[in-house]
Amino acid sequence: MPATFINGTKIAEQIKREVASEVETLRQRGIQPGLAVVLVGDDAASSAYVNMKAKACEELGIYSRKLTIPSSVSTEELCSDVRKLNEDDAIDGILVQLPLPKHVDKHTILEAVQPKKDVDGFHSVNVGSLVLGHETLVACTPSGVMEILHRSGVTVEGANAVVLGRSDDVGKPQALLLMHANATVTICHSKTRNLPNIVRQADIVVAAIGKTAMVTRDWVKPGAVVIDVGTNRVSDRAEVQRLFGADPGRWKDFEKRGYVWAGDVDERGVKEVASIMTPVPGGVGPMTIAILMKNTLKAARMRRAI
Ligand code: NAP
Repeated sequence: MPATFINGTKIAEQIKREVASEVETLRQRGIQPGLAVVLVGDDAASSAYVNMKAKACEELGIYSRKLTIPSSVSTEELCSDVRKLNEDDAIDGILVQLPLPKHVDKHTILEAVQPKKDVDGFHSVNVGSLVLGHETLVACTPSGVMEILHRSGVTVEGANAVVLGRSDDVGKPQALLLMHANATVTICHSKTRNLPNIVRQADIVVAAIGKTAMVTRDWVKPGAVVIDVGTNRVSDRAEVQRLFGADPGRWKDFEKRGYVWAGDVDERGVKEVASIMTPVPGGVGPMTIAILMKNTLKAARMRRAI
């Protein structure tokens, strides 16, 4: 039987409704959570993401502020902007949109964000708390994956989970979250030997490598749960045909935009063996903003100890 596809958009909407309801409760107590998003330069994709975040804030009753900073900014100047937001009482969460220009030291900037306002969960203090299993602000995408698993009724405890990718933003926090949820976790990366054999042991696979359709049907144990974090732009017509065949939805997108999104998992093949999987787009992607909203609410509560 083909896999059931998880509707990430629907789960994200549900989370946003829950956040909106809590924001309303806080409003009645005279508190409005606030998110500042820092955009450096004029990259079109980054700008679109920032606008989506601001729109989500508006929908949920969260105050949002967008700082647009020229790409010529120095690391020290950007740190100073971040420090002002640290001191700003209207702001509970600070998000520095990545990537930053090459001459700006990303690590220094991310460490400049006050940990209590670090809604991206990238500060070393928050990463350390995650390692220790303390309640903290955790990176949005891996947290979103955990929500998907939880809300889809997937049993994580005792499962063999394989995380493909070990980035600071996704792979590492993902592995830690799965471990804290009592999965037995294997982390794979570009130097891992016999990757397909390792993935075949998994009850849960989380693919976050940024390699289009790399996880194929023969890598996946029948009945496994497959979560696809990968977001890869495919603009080659022959590649779209190879990946999606005659799928009318994909071709409509391709003709409209000149590209389609594809995950790290070969959807057409893997759906024949997996029990549950996430689509790309519409799986993990929508969860990231929903969790950002949830983290902003959490930061507002944590800062006031309520
Ligand atoms: P990243 O920083 O580039 O990390 C990629 C990871 O994959 C690295 O650990 C790398 O190993 C590993 N890798 C690369 N090629 C591999 C291979 N052939 N075999 C095994 N492992 C390999 O990427 P990221 O930020 O974690 O993002 C991963 C993917 O998720 C991207 O497609 C990104 O666009 C997507 N993403 C989506 C969302 C969302 O909201 N849906 C959010 C974040 C990221 P090494 O460490 O050895 O180099």
